[in-house]
Amino acid sequence: MTYDYDLFIIGAGSGGVRASRISSGMGAKVAIAEEHRVGGTCVIRGCVPKKLFVYASHFAEDFEDAKNYGWTVEKPQHDWKTLIRNKDTEIDRLNSIYYTILSNNNVELYESRAELIDNHTVKVGDKIVTAEYILIATGGTPTMPDVPGIEHAISSNEAFYLEEMPKRVVVVGGGYIAVEFAGIFNGLGAEVIQLYRGEQILRGFDHHVQAMVAQEITKKGVDLRTHSNPAKIEKTATGLRITLEDGSTLEADAIMYATGRRPNTEGMGLESAGVEMKPNGAVKVDAYSKTSIDNIYSVGDVTDRIALTPVAIHEGMAFAETVFGNKPRAFEHSDVPSAVFSQPPVGSVGLTEAEAREKHGDVDIYKSEFRPMKQTLTQGSERAMVKLIVEPKSDRVLGVHIVGADAGEIIQGIGIAVKCGATKEQFDATVGVHPTLAEEIVTMREKYTGD
Ligand code: NDP
Repeated sequence: MTYDYDLFIIGAGSGGVRASRISSGMGAKVAIAEEHRVGGTCVIRGCVPKKLFVYASHFAEDFEDAKNYGWTVEKPQHDWKTLIRNKDTEIDRLNSIYYTILSNNNVELYESRAELIDNHTVKVGDKIVTAEYILIATGGTPTMPDVPGIEHAISSNEAFYLEEMPKRVVVVGGGYIAVEFAGIFNGLGAEVIQLYRGEQILRGFDHHVQAMVAQEITKKGVDLRTHSNPAKIEKTATGLRITLEDGSTLEADAIMYATGRRPNTEGMGLESAGVEMKPNGAVKVDAYSKTSIDNIYSVGDVTDRIALTPVAIHEGMAFAETVFGNKPRAFEHSDVPSAVFSQPPVGSVGLTEAEAREKHGDVDIYKSEFRPMKQTLTQGSERAMVKLIVEPKSDRVLGVHIVGADAGEIIQGIGIAVKCGATKEQFDATVGVHPTLAEEIVTMREKYTGD
C-alpha cells in the first residue's frame, strides 16, 4: 500500500521537529502538524522565555551587589512592557527559525490540529492524509485543581503575557515551575507568597538541595509557606482574595498555579487507533518509543517519562535512527543532568542520596556548604552547596548536586563524567579551577556524616 507520507508527526515542538528533520535527512517523506505555534512549549511558553525572565529578575540583586564593588547605581527601575516586548521579539525570531528548519529539510507543515482516524490515517484541518508511520509528539499542558474561583488564576502560559507586572503574587506549587516563577516575580520587585501543600518543595530532588533552595529563596524574600493550599479564590475591588484551607486569607494581584502538567492526548483519536495509554492519559511506549501499535511512536512530554526538552530531542533522534536509519536505538533515561533556574539555581545529575541508599545500600556522601566568593564584598548571605554521592565498593560517583550561581552551566560538564561512570578517585585526580564554586566538586576529601 502506498501512503501520502512515510512519516506524519503530530506536534512541532522540540521532539517532533528534531524527529522530522533527522527522518527527512534519512530519505523519509515527512509532514508535521501543529495547532499552536511551531516551536512547542520550551521555545514559545517554557524554558526560553522563562530563562529570559530569570535574567531580567536577577539584575535587581546585581545592582545591589555592584555598589560594594565600587559602582554608583541610581535607583534602578524596571519596565515590564519592555521586557515582554523584547521577549516576544526573541520568541518570534526563534519561531521563524523553526519554520526555516522545517522548510530547509523538506518537511511539509500543516498549521492545524491533527487527529487520528485509524493507525495510518490522520485528519488534519479539513484534509485526510495517510502515513506509514505516525509520531505523537504533542507535549503537555498546565493543569489546575478544581478550586472555586480557579478561573481567576493564571498558569505559566499566561504569566508570559501579563499586561502589567503584578505587585503581589501568590504562586501555588513546589515544583520546578513554581520555584522558578516565585524567584522571577520576587526579583522583579513583587511581594511573593509561595504556597506548597507538602512539607518540602522540589519533591524528587536530593533532600539537601530541597532544604538549601527553601532556605535561600526565603532569605531573598519569597514568603514560602508549606502545608498551605488555597481553598477558594474570589475577585475583589482591589484584586484577589485567596482563602486557604486553614481558613486564613491572603490578598494578591495575581495567583499563578504551577501544579503540574498533563499530557496532550485528549480527543486525538488515539483510542480509536488502538494506542494504549497510561492512567494519567500519557502515551504508553517501549524503550524505542514505540506505542502498542507497531507503526505509531511517541516522544517527549506526552509520554510522561522525563519532561525535559533535551530528553524529547534525544528520543526524537533515537526514533528516527530506529525507524528510518536501520539502526535501532533506545534512548537511556539515566544520568540525565538538569537544572532548576531558581535563585540560586540548582544543577543535578544522577541519583539523590535517598535513591542511592535504596539502590546501593551504604553510600559515601561528600558535602560542602560555603559562602560564594562574590558574596565576600557584597556582605550578602547567599550560601552555596556541592554534594557528591559515591558507591563505596566501585568508587563510582552516583550523583552530583549543586546549589549556587551557574549550577546549570557547571552540571553539564559533570554530567559527562557521571555518564562515563567516573570514580571519586578520578574526580579527586582532576585539578580544580581556582577560584570557582565548581572546584569544590574535585576538592572534597572528608566524608559527610550528618543527616
Ligand atoms: P511538578 O510536577 O514539578 O510540580 C507540581 C507541583 O504542584 C508539586 O509541588 C505538587 O505537589 C504541586 N501540586 C500538584 N497538584 C496540586 C494540587 N492539586 N494542589 C496544590 N499543589 C499541587 O510540575 P511543574 O508544573 O512545576 O513542572 C512540570 C515539568 O516541567 C517538570 O516535572 C519538569 O520536568 C519540567 N520543567 C523543567 C524545567 C527545567 O528543566 N528547569 C522548568 C520547568 C518545568 P506535590 O509535590 O505534593 O505533588
